[in-house]
Amino acid sequence: MTEKVVGILGRCGGQLGRMLGASASLLNVKVVILDVGETGPAKQVLAPVSPNLAHVDGSFADPDKIRELADKVDVLTVEIEHVDVKSLENIQAISRQTPLAIHPSPFTIHTIQDKFRQKEHLASHGSPISEFLPVDSTEESVRSAAVQLGLPLMLKSRTLAYDGRGNFVVRDISQIPEAISALGNRPLYAEKWVPFAKEIAVMVVRTVDGEVQSYPAVETVHKDNICHLVFAPLRGRDPTLAQRARAVAEAAVKTFTGAGIFGVELFLMQDGGLYINEIAPRPHNSGHYTIEACETSQYENHLRAILGLPLGSTALKVSSSVMLNLIGYSSSLDEITAIANIALGVPGAAVHLYGKSECRKGRKMGHITLVAESDAQLRTRLRPLLEALPGSTP
Ligand code: ATP
Ligand code: MG
Ligand code: MG
Repeated sequence: MTEKVVGILGRCGGQLGRMLGASASLLNVKVVILDVGETGPAKQVLAPVSPNLAHVDGSFADPDKIRELADKVDVLTVEIEHVDVKSLENIQAISRQTPLAIHPSPFTIHTIQDKFRQKEHLASHGSPISEFLPVDSTEESVRSAAVQLGLPLMLKSRTLAYDGRGNFVVRDISQIPEAISALGNRPLYAEKWVPFAKEIAVMVVRTVDGEVQSYPAVETVHKDNICHLVFAPLRGRDPTLAQRARAVAEAAVKTFTGAGIFGVELFLMQDGGLYINEIAPRPHNSGHYTIEACETSQYENHLRAILGLPLGSTALKVSSSVMLNLIGYSSSLDEITAIANIALGVPGAAVHLYGKSECRKGRKMGHITLVAESDAQLRTRLRPLLEALPGSTP
């Protein structure tokens, strides 16, 4: 299919690289992974294809290690946006026999990895986003933002955020010092509080030529700032909503450069309006469902896009589906294993466990995707799994 070798800048213990690797093996695409340790989730599913294509042990933030990976591959891609962009640019500038492709582009990663820069980019291209302001890490600056944007105020870290771990909801002015210290020394910005009715997500795949194709819009349900459930397709009374969400997501992804899959998170307002919350330039949690529920998974289409192969259909192939994230409850995997065992007895359930070396409270350890012939059947199949979650009330 292709002789090109793909290099993945992996996150320590990342599940996205693991699923990308699994997809690559089906297409017989050769992959080299950069990740800390010898046996991370991605390396577990992909043995090195040859000694000269051995995986690299190191960090996505280490320029030397990125260089080592780049020397082995034809196309570089990421499973995390917090990579060292300067190194990517430097590597791309080095002339070699066959030029190195980097997807998505360093420009795209640079723009998206700083949430404030991302918002400025989206605003300047006419994407719908809620109000936001730059702030310094001083009480005075955050107070002035609160006066302009109102309370509650969403204070966010510009960089290195995930699973809500860079967010602080300031409900009262007196909380400002606590908010600043909780977010550490990271650069901050402020967002107006968005009283959304629902959260929506759309995966969009972008080709090397800049063509975009979206997946169905889905509803995402968060618990404690972490994605808990993803329902596909999106249901609701407004027959125009899914199409509008897809159009907003496609237009936003068109403004970036480079190929690959993007996850677009949106807020749906009571009046039917849509705002973009944020964009991820990589496979995304809200797209896990595509493995079982769509004609072509987000992982396979990411590979096809970055390799310049024809894209696969993004259409749903089932009537109804839901993805349940398996989030660690403690340092023990027991609770997760118990739910996974129940899922083995549920028709239409696919269990994914990520093989992370340590379980921790709040850490994504796996997920279950359910497919069904109707929404009613889906709810029936989902019920025993939700009831088995620790802390659920029978
Ligand atoms: P991830 O990358 O894992 O999706 P993150 O750390 O980048 O998460 P955000 O997506 O910015 O965090 O926010 C996490 C959640 O917090 C959102 O899904 C939403 O539920 C809520 N949220 C974020 N921004 C706002 C806002 N301005 N107003 C109200 N709620 C918000
Ligand atoms: Mg994010
Ligand atoms: Mg988010």
